[in-house]
Amino acid sequence: MAGNLYLVATPIGNLEDITLRALKILKEVDFIAAEDTRHTLKLLNHFNISKPLISYYKQTEKSKSKVLIEKLLDNKNIALVSDAGTPGISDPGEEIVREAVNNNIKVIPIPGACALVNALIASGMSTKEFIFIGFLSSLKKDKKEKLEEIKNETRTIILYEAPHKLKNTLEMILEILGDRNLVLARELTKIHEEFIRGKVSEILNKIDEIKGEFVILIEGSTESEKDKEISNLNSKTLEEHYEFYKSQGITKKEIIKKIAKDRNVNKNEIYQYFLKL
Ligand code: SAM
Repeated sequence: MAGNLYLVATPIGNLEDITLRALKILKEVDFIAAEDTRHTLKLLNHFNISKPLISYYKQTEKSKSKVLIEKLLDNKNIALVSDAGTPGISDPGEEIVREAVNNNIKVIPIPGACALVNALIASGMSTKEFIFIGFLSSLKKDKKEKLEEIKNETRTIILYEAPHKLKNTLEMILEILGDRNLVLARELTKIHEEFIRGKVSEILNKIDEIKGEFVILIEGSTESEKDKEISNLNSKTLEEHYEFYKSQGITKKEIIKKIAKDRNVNKNEIYQYFLKL
C-alpha cells in the first residue's frame, strides 16, 4: 500500500493563519518535504513539531520527486510545504503531484493561506472572473509579450512580483495596458498590511520607497469590442485602414467619413491625404 501526499498550506506572514488540520497532518506524517528546510524548521519549532525534513525546491523538483515517490510507494506519508502559502502556486509542487498521480498515490490538499486569493477578495475589483499570471518573466522581451497578450483581457488580472522589480513592472503595465485602475496588496496578514488603490500613474508616484511583498491586481479591460476594433485600426496606416473598409464594400465617400470618425480628425484631412497619393 502507498502512503498519502499531503499538500499543506502554511501562513503567508501571520503565524496564526495555519489550520488545525494542517498542524495535525504535520504532526502525523513520516516526512515533511520543504522548499527551504531552515524556514520550515522555524515554523515547526513555533508549533513544537519535530519531523524529519527533506529539502524540495525548484531546481531539484525532478530528482527529489523520484526520492519522494519511492518513500510514498513504501507506505510513508509525506506533507509538502512551501516557504509561504499554498504549495504549487508559484512554488514547487506541480512536478511531485504529477508523479504521484501517475503512480496512483493519493494527493490530499490541506487548504489555507494563498496570497492571490486574499489580495483579490479585499481588492474591490471584480471577483467573479479573474486570471492569475503568477510572476512575469525577468526577460524584458518575454515580459512585454505576456503583457501584450493580456492587454485585452476583461477579467481581473493578478500578478505576483518581487519588490525590486515592482516599479519597472508598473511602468510596463502603464505603457502597454494603459492607465488602468490597479491595486497593490502589500504585506498581507502582516503588521504593515495595506491596499494601495489608484490609477497606475498615481501608484507609480507613491511607491519610490515602498518595501515588502506584493500582489498586483489590474482591472480588466473595459474597452468594448467596437472600441478595440477602432484602436486596432488606428494603429494601422491610413492605407490599411482604408483597405479594411473597402473590403466591406463601403463607398469611397463613406470610408473617408468613417476613418475621420475613428481617428477623431476632420474628414477633409483624410480626403486631402488620399488625394495626394
Ligand atoms: N505559494 C504562495 C501563495 O500561495 O500565495 C506564493 C509564493 S510566491 C514564491 C511569493 C509571492 O507571493 C511574493 O513575491 C508576492 O508576490 C506574493 N506574496 C506572498 N506572501 C505575500 C504577502 N504576505 N503579501 C503580499 N504578497 C505576498
